[in-house]
Amino acid sequence: MDTNAYEIRLPEINVQGIYPRAALFEHNCVPNTHRTFDADLTLVVRAAVDIEKGEHLSSIYTDNLWGTWERREHLLNSKHFLCECARCADPSELDTHLSSLKCTQCQDGFIQPSDPLDSDSYFTCDTCGAHVSAVPVRATLEELQAEVDRVEEDPSIAACETLVWACSKILHPNHYLILDLTYPLMHLYNSSEPLSREQLDRKEQLCKQFLRIADVLTPGISRLRGIVLFELQQSTDAKGTYIVQLQGRQDKRGAHQQVQGGSGEPGGGSVGAAVGAARAAGGPTGS
Ligand SMILES: [Zn+2]
Ligand SMILES: [Zn+2]
Repeated sequence: MDTNAYEIRLPEINVQGIYPRAALFEHNCVPNTHRTFDADLTLVVRAAVDIEKGEHLSSIYTDNLWGTWERREHLLNSKHFLCECARCADPSELDTHLSSLKCTQCQDGFIQPSDPLDSDSYFTCDTCGAHVSAVPVRATLEELQAEVDRVEEDPSIAACETLVWACSKILHPNHYLILDLTYPLMHLYNSSEPLSREQLDRKEQLCKQFLRIADVLTPGISRLRGIVLFELQQSTDAKGTYIVQLQGRQDKRGAHQQVQGGSGEPGGGSVGAAVGAARAAGGPTGS
């Protein structure tokens, strides 16, 4: 049942469904189909990208944003096979670097498993060629995973950003453990609440990072792309509102300064400028 069932996310609960024909789709860590469920739980499968005649139709049986070790282990435990797709076989995961760590020897390069299909293979720097055994890499990742799990129990902007900053010294910015933190962060920077310009910029930066990853790992139609585009649109809307409000305040200030400056009194311009500056300092800055 667990091996062949599809997980269905409902508002209150997740359930599993058996779909005999959909179960025939082969697995690929970069799938070319996308699935949704109708209200009556009918499974709808669409081509996510253009598919050539004769090309295999594929679906993904695991999490797209996990690293190769985690995906292959999950597939082995739940579906009883080891994936050897192009993404799994590529040390850089198709240049997304979801499993890459920073090299401690040269500081410029990233270390990646020399043979990603062998979980015990050593790691090699893509710049200086330094070798590292898989054992310390695995230990480091387990330590960081424990920290990420702890923050994920009750995520906040401050806690996530602090751990992202710490992880960024060790991991590639696209590493799956950092994505475990930046994905909730993208939502935590919620545009329905007042956000500063810097926070809106950060939300937009995160959305664009996920879109670049989605372009490679979930090309075409995907749930990830849909969610990220929704968040990006929220951020863009909020930025537009912020700019209009800022422009409005500047227009008001300019008009006020003109009135003060046009009074003919000596020093009127400087008084107007002082009032404007005081208002600017005391007024809402969007922070
Ligand atoms: Zn794979
Ligand atoms: Zn190096």
